[in-house]
Amino acid sequence: IASQEAEKRGWHLYLVGGAVRDLILSEAENGTLMINDIDLVVDGFHRAADVGAGVELAKALQEIYKNARLEIHGAFQTAALLWHKDSELDSLWVDIATSRTEFYPYPAANPEVEASSIRQDLYRRDFTINAMALRLTVPRSGELLDFFGGFLDLQAKQIRVLHANSFIEDPTRIYRGVRFAVRFGFTFEEETAESISYAINSGVYERTTQENIRTPALQTRLKTELKYILEAPYWQSALQLLDELDALQCIHYSLKLNKDILRKLRLLDICLRRFDKQQSLNHWQMRLELLIAHLAPQYRAKVAKNLQLADDSIMRLKKLADRQNEVITSLPNCDLSSQVVHFLKKYDLQTLILIALQSQREVRNKIWVYLTRLANVQPLLNGNDLKQLGYKPSPIFKQILDDLLKATLDGTIKDKDEAREFLA
Ligand code: ATP
Repeated sequence: IASQEAEKRGWHLYLVGGAVRDLILSEAENGTLMINDIDLVVDGFHRAADVGAGVELAKALQEIYKNARLEIHGAFQTAALLWHKDSELDSLWVDIATSRTEFYPYPAANPEVEASSIRQDLYRRDFTINAMALRLTVPRSGELLDFFGGFLDLQAKQIRVLHANSFIEDPTRIYRGVRFAVRFGFTFEEETAESISYAINSGVYERTTQENIRTPALQTRLKTELKYILEAPYWQSALQLLDELDALQCIHYSLKLNKDILRKLRLLDICLRRFDKQQSLNHWQMRLELLIAHLAPQYRAKVAKNLQLADDSIMRLKKLADRQNEVITSLPNCDLSSQVVHFLKKYDLQTLILIALQSQREVRNKIWVYLTRLANVQPLLNGNDLKQLGYKPSPIFKQILDDLLKATLDGTIKDKDEAREFLA
C-alpha cells in the first residue's frame, strides 16, 4: 500500500537499514523474520514541495490505516506510524523519511539522479550491512541497491564501516558495531577495527567526556545504544568486547572492566531475578548504575547526568558513597533484627542492592537477610485484631503495632496467642 501511494505521487520508496539486513540474513538462514521497526525512505522528486514527501506519505497511510498513530518530526521531515500493542514484540513502528539530499531540479525519471539521491542517503549510514536499500516501487521493484558491498559483508560475516573517520564523528557507532558483532556473531573487518583503535587512541572521547563538550544528541544516542546492549541477552559479551576495544572510555575515561566488576554484574542478575517479583526493576539501568558505581565517587553523578539517566538514578549514584559509608559503619552494630530493619528501611531497594554488591560479606549478608526476609515481616496482630481486643483506634495503635513488629522480628513472640499475652 505504501508503495502504491508513493507511485501515485510519482515518487520512489525504499526499505532501508536494519530491515534489509535482517531480511537478507533470514533468507540466508531460512529463518523466520520478526521486524518491528521498518525504515522507509521516499525519493525521486521533481518538485520543491516534495521535500516533505515522507510526511505526506505517512499522512496518506494514516488515512488508510486509521488505527495507526502518526508522529511528525518536523525538523528532519520525517514521520512515524505506530501500531502500538501492549507488548513491544507485537508493536510495529514505521519511520518514513525523505531522502536527505539536496533537492534535484531534474525530472524524477532520470535514473542517475534518483540513484545518486538514495545513494547519498545510504552513504550517511554507519556500516555497509546497514546501508542497503530495497526498492519497493516500480519500475524495478524488489531490486536491491547495494552500493558499498553490504551483501558480501553479510556473507563474510563482517562489520565494515563506510567512512574511515566515522568513529571520530560519532562514538556510538562503536557501540552499534559491537552490538551487531555480538548479536550476529560477526567480526570487525580489519580496517574498521583499525579505525576504531585510531579513534580511541586519538583521545577524542577522553577529551570530550572530560571537558563535557558532547552534544545532548550524542549523549542520547549513547544512552540508547547502552540501553539496547545492557537489556539484550548478550550484554555480557558485548560489554567485554567494548572493553577489549577500550571503548568504555566513551562513558568515562577511567572505566575498565575487570573480573570483580563482571562477578558483581552476574551477582546483580541474581538480585534482579530475585526481587523482580517484589518491585519491577529496570535491568539495563541497574547494570549501568553498577558500572558507574565503580567509578570514583566524584564522577558518578556527572556521568549519570551526561548519559541523561532518570533523576532517581542520578540521585542514587550521587548519594551512594555517603550511604555506603553509613551502612558499613552502622550495620555491623545492629545485632537485633529489629535494629537491622529500623536502620535499613530508609534506603530504597536499588541502593541496598548496589551497596550489598560493593560490601564485605558481613554487611552483604545482613542486607540480603533484610531484603529477602525481614523487610516482609508483618506484626502478628493487625488493626482489626487490636479492635477485637478492645483497643479504640487512636494514634497509639501505630506504636502498639510497631512494638509488636519489633517483638515479632526479634523472636520475642512467635504466634498470635503470645502476641495477645505480650499486649496484656
Ligand atoms: P536494530 O535492528 O538493532 O534496530 P537498525 O540497523 O535498524 O538495528 P536503528 O537504530 O533502527 O538500527 O537505525 C536504522 C538505520 O539508521 C541503521 O540501519 C543505519 O543505517 C542508520 N543509523 C542508525 N544510527 C546511526 C549512526 N549512529 N550513524 C550512522 N547511521 C546510523
